[in-house]
Amino acid sequence: ALHNSLVELRGNIRVHCRIRPSLPFDHAAGHSVSQERHRNSLENVAYAIDDETVLVKCSRPGHAPINKTFQFERYNVCIMAYGQTGSGKTYTMLGPQLEENLAFVNEDESELGIIPRATQELFRLISEKPAGSYWVEVSVVEVYNNEVFDLLAKDSCGKVFGIKRDVVTTREGKSDVPLLTYETVANASEFLHLVIKGLQLRVRHPTLVHAHSSRSHLVVTLTITTIVSGDNFGTSWEDEQINQRLNKEVSCSYPQKRDSRSTSSSRASSPAQLEAAEKLKQVKTRLQLVDLAGSECVGMSGVTGAALRETSCINRSLSALADVLGAIAEQRSHVPYRNSKLTHLLQDSVGGDAKLLVMLCISPSQKYLTESMQSLGFGTRAR
Ligand code: ADP
Ligand code: MG
Repeated sequence: ALHNSLVELRGNIRVHCRIRPSLPFDHAAGHSVSQERHRNSLENVAYAIDDETVLVKCSRPGHAPINKTFQFERYNVCIMAYGQTGSGKTYTMLGPQLEENLAFVNEDESELGIIPRATQELFRLISEKPAGSYWVEVSVVEVYNNEVFDLLAKDSCGKVFGIKRDVVTTREGKSDVPLLTYETVANASEFLHLVIKGLQLRVRHPTLVHAHSSRSHLVVTLTITTIVSGDNFGTSWEDEQINQRLNKEVSCSYPQKRDSRSTSSSRASSPAQLEAAEKLKQVKTRLQLVDLAGSECVGMSGVTGAALRETSCINRSLSALADVLGAIAEQRSHVPYRNSKLTHLLQDSVGGDAKLLVMLCISPSQKYLTESMQSLGFGTRAR
């Protein structure tokens, strides 16, 4: 379970599956069955395809064939920092080095924020898998005045602009941002370079001139793709080869086929590998890392124009977030994700089967008592 180890998130129920090997007593003759039926009943039908997938494949005379995969322990994760401006959100998510210099210096690991830390761990876990069996794409967006800005978008000259994007709901009911820029990254340092590039744009771009970091939400999304078996294997497949093929050949060839930029494997794909790849399906999981806008209670009195819009947008997006977390906590059937771009964007990694971790950031001094009480209240209601 890739994400399971990423962060210490304890869901209510966790299911692991262990398939034991065949044992001698499985072969003890049953009562009153024909010899052939007895022999058939000894065939293995349950296979562990990978860490998260169990395949049950069986064809019996007189029964419909069974060819079904079961998924365990695969879920989206969101980690967000909530708190007033100056309470340590960016410090928590990015770490002091990234925050101050917008440059990543890997000198003191204990100084790393959650974003570099989680990605390092993610790539460490991926490195334990067969080469090329997982690949990671990154998007970096800023949500400002209830608009989503693509911080990795490029024009034809390769220059980067903060282009506005829309959040939509797909036919499968998932949240999607059409045309959003995704970059494939092979390791944690490639990832951090992209995030830094996005952060620099966030500070500099003229259309985002008001988007000082405390007035906008930063959302970094890692999309982790792997392949699992589809529900219809070819009948020519030998059972004992299933694990071998899925774990080795196919997983290595697949990313290559999909993305020529991928550097993970330079091996040629044999027809058998490609044929096998056709029978597999992609599974995507998401890790969203969020540095929220400051949650201070900004008064509306005396505020006009752009500042008024900014203030009311922050208040509205954070109260939409509170509404969403409240609805999830109370297990209400309707969760109002679409009331703001922020919650719509985070929909798939908050609620449902997803795991959410909220880092409440609090200033210790009396000066910020009101803000601290508000943040702690937010955290309590979301539980
Ligand atoms: P926010 O993003 O919530 O506005 P910052 O992360 O920028 O707040 O933190 C405000 C200041 O406090 C920064 O100078 C930061 O380096 C410092 N700071 C925040 N959290 C810590 C911490 N846990 N330890 C030391 N310094 C911190
Ligand atoms: Mg900040």
